[in-house]
Amino acid sequence: MAELEGLEFGKSDFVLLDEVTMEQFMENLRLRFEKGRIYTYIGEVVVSVNPYRQMDIYGKDTIEAYRGRELYENPPHLYAVSDAAYKAMKRRAKDTCIVISGESGAGKTEASKYIMQYIAAITNPSQRAEVESVKNVLLKSNCVLEAFGNAKTNRNDNSSRFGKYMDINFNFNGDPTGGHINNYLLEKSRVVHQQEGERNFHSFYQLLRGGSEETLAAFHLQNDPAVYVYTKEGTSNNDRTSHKAVISALEVIGFSKEEINSIYQILASILLLGNLQFESDGESVQILGQEAVNQISELTATEPESVSKTLLYRTVATGGGEVIEKGHTEQQACFGRDAFAKALYERLFGWIVGRINTVIEVKDYNPVLHGKNTVIGVLDIYGFEIFDNNSFEQFCINYCNEKLQQLFIELILQQEQAEYQREGITWQHIDYFNNQIIVDLVEQPHKGIISILDEACLTVGNVTDTVCLDSMDTKLAQHPHYTSRKLSPSDKSMEFQKHFRIRHYAGDVTYSVEGILDKNKDLLFQDFKRLMYNSTNPVLKEMWPDGQLSITEVTKRPLTAATLFKNSIVALVDKLACKEPYYVRCIKPNEMKSPMLFDDARCQHQVAYLGLLENVMVRRAGFAYRQPYARFLQRYKMTCEYTWPNHLMASDREAVEAIVTQHGFQDDVAYGHTKLFVRTPRSLFTLEQERAALI
Ligand code: ADP
Ligand code: MG
Repeated sequence: MAELEGLEFGKSDFVLLDEVTMEQFMENLRLRFEKGRIYTYIGEVVVSVNPYRQMDIYGKDTIEAYRGRELYENPPHLYAVSDAAYKAMKRRAKDTCIVISGESGAGKTEASKYIMQYIAAITNPSQRAEVESVKNVLLKSNCVLEAFGNAKTNRNDNSSRFGKYMDINFNFNGDPTGGHINNYLLEKSRVVHQQEGERNFHSFYQLLRGGSEETLAAFHLQNDPAVYVYTKEGTSNNDRTSHKAVISALEVIGFSKEEINSIYQILASILLLGNLQFESDGESVQILGQEAVNQISELTATEPESVSKTLLYRTVATGGGEVIEKGHTEQQACFGRDAFAKALYERLFGWIVGRINTVIEVKDYNPVLHGKNTVIGVLDIYGFEIFDNNSFEQFCINYCNEKLQQLFIELILQQEQAEYQREGITWQHIDYFNNQIIVDLVEQPHKGIISILDEACLTVGNVTDTVCLDSMDTKLAQHPHYTSRKLSPSDKSMEFQKHFRIRHYAGDVTYSVEGILDKNKDLLFQDFKRLMYNSTNPVLKEMWPDGQLSITEVTKRPLTAATLFKNSIVALVDKLACKEPYYVRCIKPNEMKSPMLFDDARCQHQVAYLGLLENVMVRRAGFAYRQPYARFLQRYKMTCEYTWPNHLMASDREAVEAIVTQHGFQDDVAYGHTKLFVRTPRSLFTLEQERAALI
């Protein structure tokens, strides 16, 4: 918190504002942005504003300046927080995590990369080969995941379309020994359809633009994305060079030649599938163009007849246990084709992540020999999304953000206040909006939106999206955060009967129910799974273990997409909750991707919904450090004549008072029932220096 920079750059910590008001907060944020100071603290939380230009603040010198230093010794930076998380992990053997939040394009993924680069740079000083190789794989995995999981959207040219949580494991030396990646809800609908101005996942264009002539010929592809229904939308300049980088990253990670070939064969199959058309003569449906079917069967190592049959028929078990083949309508055939393409891509992505995990998983770890294995987790997950047209995906993403906000409230706000109350510290209660009520609206068993969607999906017969909306309207009519056109007929912003609205902590979002049940059911005919399981390509087969089951064995209804997602997010929150959290809150300064523009209204909105002002208030009223009296004494008793070697006072608390008074920071502390509370780190820093001089 030391003001290391002049005031012309604004205050480096919002805690130092003269008054905690939105005006002052915004003034400081804007001033710092305009002066090229993109990071500002709220205590240990970093607030970051996307500069939209290359900043000269990530070089080796900067890394050295932050290495091993305390937060307040340098200007605010991601590196300082990374170092704090690293120190806590190394010195106190604590598992820590860095949670990066903010809306799409705010700079989360860039931040996560800088954090990983910093950790890689400060570890393994002895350059041990095994550790270097682990670090290399961890860093290279970003390149691969971005190729397959990122796409150009209207908000961000390189938008992550999946959530990522990465654990980095460390040994007792503090060197990385491995890691694990969890991925969340890849936006697979993008494989078959993109909104205007957006693109499919980068990987497709990279293959088409960057693949060699021989490769493309072998895959029956032309090097023009415009030829393919799934990639008709634009292209960019760097797809070609990226393709080489991705292949080289895959090789470094340890993917074999066959595996890499299989990955691109799958991409090629998806592109060819997308161009398949069907034709109906009123009685039965045919595929237009046998050649493409042959090519797909070649690329997926399956029989052409099986491919055609799977695209045109599905096996169903009748009530009497009989198995029959039922021909698709043209519409069903198109639905099946797209569902197949999406599933192929989703499984490919999951398989790539799994493959990276087997390479980086910690091997031969012996806790007796190697000490506690500690972890730093880095979370880079999609931020809150409000589009012109919001659907199932935005619903899931925004629910996830509600959960993370809830965790932030619990960890930063609730726990703080509870501790002050417990310790009897005079405390002025700070009001903040607790979003639990919205979390409940979405996830509560039986009553929440996910339950209602699931129920509609499980009901036999034709429950339409609109019937499902009716059911939500009936059950949620009284909920203060839910409404629909039917419930508020005067609201013109919702199309009649098709929309509902949730009042999220970050603002109102109107969702369309069109297609929502299909997306939630996420149906893929079993025949496709069996087709892939029967592939003679071992890589492909490995991705489809559930293809073993015959139709009569597939009795249990699979969990819906929303429930699977909810379960994964609940597990994620549990994982984060048991770690010491560090926060990076990212802000997007404007919609134009411009380095010059600070859009006040947009920024203020983000500051408000991220709860940053409340965060400053809690932090300011609060105390950065606290220690039980006995522990404080043990560490600092040598710095005071009345306490060294032992004190003769009535209580430890009085002895601690003597130390505090002797060093003159009595105004910076409060005395709790069992602990000393210290407001600013500077006081402890003085003590530490004195202690160091004495020992
Ligand atoms: P998010 O992951 O939050 O959606 P990104 O991290 O992908 O956003 O950032 C979007 C774009 O903004 C990046 O592609 C980059 O051009 C720019 N950007 C973000 N952070 C920085 C930074 N620290 N320095 C320079 N440019 C940045
Ligand atoms: Mg991102």
